[in-house]
Amino acid sequence: MVKIINSNCKKCPYLKAGSCSGEDKQCICRFCPRNIATCITVKWCRETESPLIIEYRSEG
Ligand code: SF4
Ligand code: SF4
Repeated sequence: MVKIINSNCKKCPYLKAGSCSGEDKQCICRFCPRNIATCITVKWCRETESPLIIEYRSEG
């Protein structure tokens, strides 16, 4: 089965970190038309007009 990963997921640090498989249906970034890479750079979510905080969980 081919997994369709939204382009925002491809650029998402959580996918790269392995903490999200790109299937979080609650995630607003997933289908957001804006570029998440830009959001990360400017630390601002223009969709919700709020700061964007990227948190990494260190496991194991
Ligand atoms: S669903 Fe959201 S948190 Fe998960 S990889 Fe995609 S953009 Fe990142
Ligand atoms: S604008 Fe907000 S919801 Fe959209 S990709 Fe950026 S951080 Fe995610």
